[in-house]
Amino acid sequence: MKQDMKTLAETLKNDVYELCQPGGRMVDTVGHARAETWVQRRLGEIGCIPYRGDTFALPYHVDGIDFTNFAGVIPGADRTLAPVLIGAHYDSVIPHPCADDNGAAVAITLAVGQAVARSGGLERDLIIAIFDAEEPPFFLTESMGSRRFYEDQTDGRDIHFALISDLVGHDVTMPSDFLGGVAAMIASPLKPLTFMTGAESHPSLPGLLDTVKVPSGMKMIATLNQYVGDMSDHAVFRWNEVPYVFLSCGHWQHYHRPTDTPDRLNYEKMASIAVYAENICRSAAGTELLNPTETNDSIGFEAKSWENALGMFYQPVAMMLGVPDFKTRKHITRAAQSLRSFGL
Ligand SMILES: [Zn+2]
Repeated sequence: MKQDMKTLAETLKNDVYELCQPGGRMVDTVGHARAETWVQRRLGEIGCIPYRGDTFALPYHVDGIDFTNFAGVIPGADRTLAPVLIGAHYDSVIPHPCADDNGAAVAITLAVGQAVARSGGLERDLIIAIFDAEEPPFFLTESMGSRRFYEDQTDGRDIHFALISDLVGHDVTMPSDFLGGVAAMIASPLKPLTFMTGAESHPSLPGLLDTVKVPSGMKMIATLNQYVGDMSDHAVFRWNEVPYVFLSCGHWQHYHRPTDTPDRLNYEKMASIAVYAENICRSAAGTELLNPTETNDSIGFEAKSWENALGMFYQPVAMMLGVPDFKTRKHITRAAQSLRSFGL
């Protein structure tokens, strides 16, 4: 098992270094065209077949600009069922490597596809979606790759569940001035944190996610999407009431900067996130997510995630974030606001 994680971390590292070149992957650039070729090749290598037609590329045009989404499928046991989708964007915001944003998530998404392919597939199809144009000026516009995919490029089976990740390559750090005297004590236990939103998107999700073990090497904290807003490609799924989960390690000092380079990522943490994402997809594929009849409240799941993630650092972190505990909606809301004010 340990050896498996090491091999997985190596694969993730290779993918990030190959994809995240110095010139970046901005739409309509040579670097973008190079990235397209690379994504296309990797989808084939991990064992995908095309989602539609006979190629992974799903081109689209908006306002005179050419864009390309990519989608491959690892066929499942029952191909008539609505597929699970795992996705991440591959474009970059500036002409620089943008390794954490979003090479890391592309590598993790491909790794999940590879693991599922090797195990013979899920109960239903798994779509590996590598989206174009998530970054500004396209963010949340008609040009955004995930929007064009969901609105124009999906087939008649709709999407059963979507897992999106963004900014999942780095250790969580906080500016030391915010930590004050407790800095040394809680800085290192916070590094493995990974945030989840979307458990609130379907009443069956908190229970389903509760059964998925969080691998060692990462710690997961679940909060509501409304605390942070639609930060990435999960937006279109949320708008269309597709049950979803969004994973992110939040913002950091290298966010949207030339210094977001492959050497700054934590590939062991990424391997843990990949295993976690795979197991969420597995669990979702095997669970009926019926039309919700009850309103969902994920507070119990969220409260437990804070407790499990923080362990013996529960009280100091609560104190730092200005709440007595992470048990009520009011306290978690306030704690999430504090985290946001720290720049996460
Ligand atoms: Zn970005």
